[in-house]
Amino acid sequence: MKIQKNCVVSANFRLFDGSGELLDSSDSGGPLTYLHGAEELLPDLEAALAGHQAGDKLTVELTPQQAFGEHDPSLVDKAPRANFPGIEHIEPGMRFQTEMDDGAPMVVTVTDVDDQWVTVDGNHELAGKHLRFELEVCSVRPASGDEIEHGHAHGPDGHCDH
Ligand code: ZN
Repeated sequence: MKIQKNCVVSANFRLFDGSGELLDSSDSGGPLTYLHGAEELLPDLEAALAGHQAGDKLTVELTPQQAFGEHDPSLVDKAPRANFPGIEHIEPGMRFQTEMDDGAPMVVTVTDVDDQWVTVDGNHELAGKHLRFELEVCSVRPASGDEIEHGHAHGPDGHCDH
């Protein structure tokens, strides 16, 4: 069947950034499996997959605007080292959950550390990046009633891990 609303799609993929660096692939985490039409994927990625069927290969290129947005410099902040009590070792790449001014939760990534200051970046790690997905559709099947009700794909045996 062709990919359309309310079907479950499984696809092997490789994800590259604009410079051709491999960011992620199904080799490490297994195929991408999702419920089509449930907004589980980036909208433009989902739209590109529509109408394809098992065995199809496609390449989808997304601008930062279509993916995770431009890098927003206002989300980069320097905090005093003293704001991280009880954490002995802070290094770039670590992530912390913090709160925005309006109280909304935000995950920040440490990008720089010195004796006094910790620089954190609240942008999505893929913000500002062009993305290229190379996809191979493995299977397309009708979603079960449970999957449509839950708004996500279940495992091969119908297992729901949410
Ligand atoms: Zn479920």
